[in-house]
Amino acid sequence: MNTQARKKGVSSVGERGSRDLRFAIIGSGMAGILSAVKLEEEGLTDFTVYEKADRVGGTWRENTYPGLSCDVPSHLYCYSFARNPDWSHFFSPGYEIQAYFERVVDEYKLAPHIRFGDEVVSCSFDDGRWKISTRSGHRDEVDVVIAATGVLHHPKYPDIEGLECFEGALFHSARWDHDVLLEGARVGIIGTGSTSVQIVSAIVDRVQQLSLFQRTAQWIMPATNPEYDASEKRSFRENPQLIADLRAATSQLYDMFSSAVVDAGSAQIKGIEEACKANLVNSVVDPALRERLRPDYRAACKRLIVSTDFYEAIQKPNAELVTEPIEAVETKGVRTTDGVLRELDVLVLATGFAVDAFVRPMSVEGRNGVKLDDVWADRPEAYLSISVPDFPNFFMLNGPNGPVGNFSLVEVAELQVGYIMSLVDRLRSGECREIAPTEAALREFESARVQAAKKTVWASGCRSWYLDDRGVPAVWPWPFERFRVEMSTPDWTAYEFCG
Ligand code: NAP
Repeated sequence: MNTQARKKGVSSVGERGSRDLRFAIIGSGMAGILSAVKLEEEGLTDFTVYEKADRVGGTWRENTYPGLSCDVPSHLYCYSFARNPDWSHFFSPGYEIQAYFERVVDEYKLAPHIRFGDEVVSCSFDDGRWKISTRSGHRDEVDVVIAATGVLHHPKYPDIEGLECFEGALFHSARWDHDVLLEGARVGIIGTGSTSVQIVSAIVDRVQQLSLFQRTAQWIMPATNPEYDASEKRSFRENPQLIADLRAATSQLYDMFSSAVVDAGSAQIKGIEEACKANLVNSVVDPALRERLRPDYRAACKRLIVSTDFYEAIQKPNAELVTEPIEAVETKGVRTTDGVLRELDVLVLATGFAVDAFVRPMSVEGRNGVKLDDVWADRPEAYLSISVPDFPNFFMLNGPNGPVGNFSLVEVAELQVGYIMSLVDRLRSGECREIAPTEAALREFESARVQAAKKTVWASGCRSWYLDDRGVPAVWPWPFERFRVEMSTPDWTAYEFCG
């Protein structure tokens, strides 16, 4: 909901006076920058953005691996209010996305609000306000916390025997060591997710030998990645409607995808499966390799991989797909269960992220000393992915149970910020000092969510990071349009207001 529309609502600012509010935004990635822009736009200028690193950018700052790009079209993966006519490609590389976010921070003059190099270690709710402590010992007291701490943030290291013994260079894909020379090196990559596929394509021609250790095969959706030439960029700049049209068209495509994945029986998901199968058959020449690359589960059960050139890369003479399970890592390389040792100079762990951490390891203590860690002891849950009972005025962006996958998380966060601003209006107008969802609202949301999640393609029988400890998809299980509707205006009966 836009500002205008929200202000027409029953709880509009100014009806009952106006309270000054102080905010803490935690994280200066895509969602933190967005929150800062939107607070400024609302005239809510009393805020600090806490950033543990020395630069903004979140995932785009931390991931610098070769081949990094976003497989959501660039004109969709940017803010609606800061469109960019200069994207180089339909799917632009990571460094361009990082530069884009840095540019937005400059254009909106946000730097003075950002406290760099200081990690928030705890937030506790006391006497109606959030007390913030940082690693450096800095203290703050705020009315509202916006946690923009990211989803795919904490690298997951595999539990493989001997990993610490390896004498070559070893690093996680999100901690790429650019001092390590790849030219002429024997490189091993563990994992075959979206990250690994991008790395394989980017480095295969640089290295002497590439060994890709695959535990589970992946379906690959074919794609093309056209470059925008100077005249197209000029047209985008001179005629912003072209960008609007492109956004509308790609958004429609992604909406169709979002409806397909949440209905495992849909014709659309079968169409996606057919496209992936045809891609495998048409792209991989050697029938034995083709079968080793063929997944034994349905397409899009795991996050669907989009690639223009992975199959081409893995068929190069210096590339090898290793499907024997890994037995151990040794000083010289990786030994598989068939006894073969592949000697390596570099070992890359493209093994994903701990996806259920969300705001943790930060300690969050709500009303009456209730700890978020205890509330989330089984698994993280949040009403509409944004808030948790007993944690008033604590709002998450891209929190648990939200739409993730092959969508633009930028649109998700923009919708969430609009919703949060509606909640903030009630605090600002002085109608209440504390706002949190009721336990009943969370339970009702969660039970409907779990029911719907069972019908999605993510529950059709594969291992993936979408699944929670019970094997239930932990993400938004309805079409994206439903998320837009839910975010357009809060159901006030789901909240309790205090003070
Ligand atoms: P991921 O999808 O979680 O993949 C991790 C890979 O590591 C899987 O192939 C997994 O195998 C393997 N693995 C984990 N532990 C292992 C072990 N002990 N032994 C052998 N293999 C092991 O991680 P990711 O590729 O970094 O991607 C994470 C998410 O980041 C993506 O799903 C996507 O949302 C996002 N991403 C997006 C883009 C983009 O372009 N938008 C690009 C990169 C990443 P199993 O499959 O058998 O578990």
